[in-house]
Amino acid sequence: MVQIEKNRIRQYFYLGAVMIIIMLSVCMSVLFMRNLHIEYELKISQLSDSIISAKKRYIKDVIYRIFGDIGVEESIIQAEFTRHGEKMCGILKKTVEGRFGETTGLSPGILGLPAPVNLVVYRQSTNEVLGSSVPDRAALFFETGSPITDTLLKQPICSIKKLTDGDIHVAAFLTQTQVNALVRERVAHRIRKSRLMDGEYIWVNQIINYDGGDNYAIRFIHPNLPDTEGMSLSTDMQDIKGNLPYKEELEGVKSGGEVYFDYYFKKMHQGLITHKLSFAKLYKPFDWVIATGVHLDDVEHLISRESKRMKASYRHQLLFASLAAVAGIVLSIGVMVIFERLIYRLISNYNSDIAQQQKKLVDDKMRLEDALTLLKDVAFKDPLTGLWNRRAMLERLGEETSRCLRQHQCFCLIICDIDYFKNVNDTFGHNGGDALLQSIATLIKGNVRAEDMVSRWGGEEFLILLSHSDTTIAAQKAEHLRELVEKHVIVFDEKEISVTMTFGVANFCDHLSHGETLKSADTALYQGKANGRNRVEKGHGTKINGK
Ligand code: GH3
Ligand code: MG
Ligand code: MG
Repeated sequence: MVQIEKNRIRQYFYLGAVMIIIMLSVCMSVLFMRNLHIEYELKISQLSDSIISAKKRYIKDVIYRIFGDIGVEESIIQAEFTRHGEKMCGILKKTVEGRFGETTGLSPGILGLPAPVNLVVYRQSTNEVLGSSVPDRAALFFETGSPITDTLLKQPICSIKKLTDGDIHVAAFLTQTQVNALVRERVAHRIRKSRLMDGEYIWVNQIINYDGGDNYAIRFIHPNLPDTEGMSLSTDMQDIKGNLPYKEELEGVKSGGEVYFDYYFKKMHQGLITHKLSFAKLYKPFDWVIATGVHLDDVEHLISRESKRMKASYRHQLLFASLAAVAGIVLSIGVMVIFERLIYRLISNYNSDIAQQQKKLVDDKMRLEDALTLLKDVAFKDPLTGLWNRRAMLERLGEETSRCLRQHQCFCLIICDIDYFKNVNDTFGHNGGDALLQSIATLIKGNVRAEDMVSRWGGEEFLILLSHSDTTIAAQKAEHLRELVEKHVIVFDEKEISVTMTFGVANFCDHLSHGETLKSADTALYQGKANGRNRVEKGHGTKINGK
């Protein structure tokens, strides 16, 4: 029964614990997944914007890098031509010295110098050009009338050397226009060569008229439509949706130097026309609008690819979270079961220890009770007859006296003595006397009420206490016992033994104490002996005024 209860408690415990673990795990998983979902939604919602802004940043960076390249090319050309300036003039000096009259028709090529470069030999005092690699241009160049040396020194790249005749100088130089042309050529080459992500490219339109309209610009570089390079552009040109990209571009670069704009244009190496986002920036020294762009369908592909990847990652995370939750539940239940078993075993061991201790205590208690009973028997029982002894009777007398005094009740004492017992001993021996004593004790004990007490008072003397009794009843009881003893016969050693007894009766209510009562009964007994034995005598009262 107890085991069934225990099993039921364990079942409830398991059920409750498992439910709590599952509920906690589910709550935590739901919270985690909710956060995951919110984060996913946020990322998805930001994805398009962030990719488009990354692309915008990218195309702007590409154009800015080209602007940086222009500066770099200028520096390279400057360094290149300056480094060779001295050398060029040296070579020219050696070549033309002594025959400067024949310098018309000089060319860098025949002198083994890098082209384009202008070579000029002039007389400084008369400001007269004696020879030039480009005579017509030189004439134009110096026709201002200002000193040739001053004009030459204003050029970005120039080296001048004196010939033997101190008035004649030789110079190698590049004009700003030439430097610009070189830079333009090199940058254009770079732009043509450059290839960007997703087949994108850079194009350049050279503006002729900042006011717009037909022929406002020339398509200078266009890797997507190389055949159209050199064609005139108009701000009225429309795309398939009616947008005016050239107009938007021109107005944008005019107002802010640079502009983002979108329109529809053909994709590189494909006939497909799609939505395009472009960035254009004006390089004023060349009147160039340098631009690049991205086709938004490529961006959308990227967005959809990225969102698929994010979705897959989100699903993986969800799966992982679910598996982690299940693993957490299984692990928690496992740990809970192990701990429950450990605790159950500890409690069982503890309970069995307690049960053992309890059993030991019960055994000890029983042994002590047995020992106490034995002690009581030894202390309060007569070993021969098994009746209460004198000590037990005296104790009971004290209690009975208190009770009767308290409750105003009476008890009676009967003291009785075997007549001529000495003769029994003498005739049947001591053992015969003992046997008779035992038999008489049993007889008396068997004929009084349960609440009455029979004790062996002396050798062959017995004292009987009758509770709630008066003298008449006690005398009747004594008489009854006397008759029983008289008729009683025991057989010892195949011989019959019979005796008589004399009885003295006294009532506690007739006396001042149980001692007085006892004395009164004893006196009655002796009176009975004196009056011939085998009889009942009543004691006299000792209370004051006979009460
Ligand atoms: P009376 O009628 O006057 O009482 O005469 P009586 O012989 O009974 O009295 P008495 O006092 O002379 O003798 C009592 C005898 O009882 C003496 C004693 O040896 C004997 N007696 C006392 N205790 C025991 C006992 O435990 N066993 C036996 N067998 N005899 C006992
Ligand atoms: Mg006697
Ligand atoms: Mg006696």
